Amino acid sequence: MKQHTAMITGASRGIGAAIAKKFAAEGWNLVLTCLHSKEKLETQALELHAAYGITCFTFAGDMGSKRDVQDCFRRMEERFEGVDVLINNAGISHAGLFTELSLEDWEQVMRTNSTSVFLCTRQALPYMLKQKSGSIVNISSVWGCVGASCETAYSASKGAVNALTMALAKELAPSGIAVNAIACGAIDTDMNACFTEEEKADIAEEIPAGRFGTPDEVAGLVFAVACQPSYLTGQIMRLDGGWI
Ligand code: NAD
Repeated sequence: MKQHTAMITGASRGIGAAIAKKFAAEGWNLVLTCLHSKEKLETQALELHAAYGITCFTFAGDMGSKRDVQDCFRRMEERFEGVDVLINNAGISHAGLFTELSLEDWEQVMRTNSTSVFLCTRQALPYMLKQKSGSIVNISSVWGCVGASCETAYSASKGAVNALTMALAKELAPSGIAVNAIACGAIDTDMNACFTEEEKADIAEEIPAGRFGTPDEVAGLVFAVACQPSYLTGQIMRLDGGWI
């Protein structure tokens, strides 16, 4: 039986690392990327290989850069035919007043969170189109659905991901390729390390479930969505403990 391959961007920590572990535990080969932490990613790949016997290709580079993404796919394709599942997870947050948001910050957030989805998806698609199957899961945010004060660039970048998800799902449904997004609420990762314990407790109090979500909970949903029939497509699924 063919062993399937999943690509996860931003897999060196947090949600991406949990998704990588989930796919590895289910016997999938992996393509893992991160921005800088090449050694950490390689250690992770060795551990996943030792634990689950899967093959891992790692790449450190900027998924918002056309050159890096092309380089990643060119080198990955020397190892695998292509990817059956693409998880666009790499992302950064940015907090601050809109009036103090510089063009550079705006562009960096849009490039990392939205352009990366465009670039990676474009590179992954020829193989999926050839085999007439595949699944793309974009890791988005509830702020892309409803907007967050002092996070305008982040909200706009995730809103773009949500709209791209719905539009591309329609375009790719005839080819048997699903495109969905998971709009996360507050998940307990380093992305939220900017908050003090007290601030985190205040946020948790606002969430009906009474706590932050875990990376493993996101990973479980991502895996389930990626394995559904391609008839499940164009959905923006909120995973937020009832918050929004
Ligand atoms: P994190 O900061 O722990 O991890 C981010 C990962 O993205 C890292 O592996 C990092 O190397 C990678 N990355 C950053 N910029 C990159 C770039 N230009 N190219 C390649 N890789 C890059 O964050 P996380 O909480 O695990 O977030 C993962 C995703 O989930 C992000 O898209 C984020 O927006 C989304 N999300 C997180 C939360 C949350 O509360 N943590 C909520 C909603 C959505």
